[in-house]
Amino acid sequence: MVSQDLLEILRCPVCVREKEGLLDLVHGTWLVCRDCGRKYPITEDIPVMLIEEGDKWIQVAVGDLPVPPPKLS
Ligand SMILES: [Zn+2]
Repeated sequence: MVSQDLLEILRCPVCVREKEGLLDLVHGTWLVCRDCGRKYPITEDIPVMLIEEGDKWIQVAVGDLPVPPPKLS
């Protein structure tokens, strides 16, 4: 599990420049930005906070996110 302390300090790297970029944990393994809808996977207990990764999932509905997230290649 990713620690609660870590989750509380993580922010969307795109939105944090201008607003809060707060993230919601969904399915226990995705972090969804409340501002832009980018979705960042948590793979092997490590949140992948890459903008390009968030971009990849921006159009995918929360309910359609794969669980567990695909491994990064
Ligand atoms: Zn965002």
